[in-house]
Amino acid sequence: MNTLTSQDSFIYLDHSATTPVDPEVADAMMPYITGPLSCGNPSSVHRYGRRARAAVDEARDQVARLIGADYSEVYFTGSGTEADNLALAGAMYGACAGRGHLITTAIEHPAILRTAHNLETHGFTATVLPVDREGFVSPSAVRDAITERTTLVSVMFANNEIGTIQSAAEIAAIARERGVLFHSDAVQAAGLLEVDFKLLDCDLMTISSHKFYGPKGVGALAIKQGTRISPIVHGGTQEREKRAGTENVAAIVGFGKAAELARARRQEDAHRLAGLRDRFILSLSRSVTNLMLNGPIVGRLPNNVNVSVSGISGATMLMNLDRKGVAASSGAACSSGSIEPSHVLKAIGLSDPLASSGIRFSLGRCTTEEELDRTVEIFGAIVDRVRGL
Ligand code: PLP
Repeated sequence: MNTLTSQDSFIYLDHSATTPVDPEVADAMMPYITGPLSCGNPSSVHRYGRRARAAVDEARDQVARLIGADYSEVYFTGSGTEADNLALAGAMYGACAGRGHLITTAIEHPAILRTAHNLETHGFTATVLPVDREGFVSPSAVRDAITERTTLVSVMFANNEIGTIQSAAEIAAIARERGVLFHSDAVQAAGLLEVDFKLLDCDLMTISSHKFYGPKGVGALAIKQGTRISPIVHGGTQEREKRAGTENVAAIVGFGKAAELARARRQEDAHRLAGLRDRFILSLSRSVTNLMLNGPIVGRLPNNVNVSVSGISGATMLMNLDRKGVAASSGAACSSGSIEPSHVLKAIGLSDPLASSGIRFSLGRCTTEEELDRTVEIFGAIVDRVRGL
C-alpha cells in the first residue's frame, strides 16, 4: 500500500502530476543541501565551487544519457515549464527576420500553448493544429502547415492527460526535410519510454525531474549543437549563457540520480504498468456502465488511464475519490471559481459536459493490483451513489 504518512493510507494515482522522490535520489541530494558541500557555487573557483561544478556536470551526463543526447546539449532550467518557454521563445527570438511562424498542436501542455499565445502578442504567428479523436496529430497536417516563414514545429512526445504518444520520429523527419526546427516536450515520456534525442534527430527536447522520482523545480532543455536559441533569463553566464542564475545544485544532483535510475528501470516499469493499466481499464468498464475511455488504446503511455462518466463532473468525482482515500486528477482547470472543461478533451471532440467529467488516473512504480482493485470498487460505488442507484 502506498502511504503518504504512517497515519494516512492513501492510494496515490496521480504520478503524472508528480512522483514521490526516490529515497536514493534524496540521499544523493542531501550533501548539497546541508554540510560543507552546500557551500559550493559552481561558478566559484575554490574547492567547494569546483566540487559543485563537478556534481552539476555529472548530473548533466546522467540526464543526457536518459534521452540519448550529448552531454554538451543539456541545459538545466528551473522546471519543465521554463524549458518549454526557452524552446519556443528562444527559437522564435533567435530566428532570422521573416521567419516568425511556429506550429504546435491543440493538446499541448499550457507551458507550450500559453507561450505560443504570448509570442503572438509580440508579433509572431502560431498555427495550432487539431488532433483526431484519440489525440493524434496527422504528420501530413504538420507538413502542410509549414511555410517559408516557419521556424519551429513543437509537438509533444506524449500527452499528459490522455497519454497519446505522437509519431515524433515521423514529424521530426518532416521538419528536417523542410528545414525547420523540431521541439518535443518529452516531460511525460522520458521516465517511461525510450526517448532518443539523437536518433529522432530533434533540435530541442524538454524533460522535467519530478515526473520520474526526482525533485520538483528542475528541468532541462536539450539543444542540438548549432541551434540558435536566445536566452529568456538574462544575467550571469551560467549554462553556457543559455540560462542565467546560480544553479540549484542539490536539485540538479537529484535530477541526475533520478535520470540514472529511470534509465535502468524504465523498460521494466513500462512493461509492468502497461499490464496494470489494461487490467484496470477493463475492470473499470465492467464495473461502471457508460464509462468512456478518453485517448487511444494503442499508442498510449503505459501509466495513463483517463475516463469520463456522463452526468458526473470531474470535480465531484475527484472530491469523492479523495474522501475515500484515492488521489487522482482531472484535466479540468479551476479558474475564477468555476471548472473549465479540459482543453485536451475538447480537442478530441468531447462536449463541454463530458470534457468536464474526465478523470485521470496515473500509475507509478509503487502502484499495486490491490490498490487498483480497491479503486475500481470505490469508483463504482461513487458512480452508483451519484446516479441514485
Ligand atoms: N509538459 C508536460 C507535458 C507536463 O505534463 C508538464 C507538467 O505536468 C510540464 C510540461 C511542466 O513541467 P513542470 O511541472 O516541471 O513545470
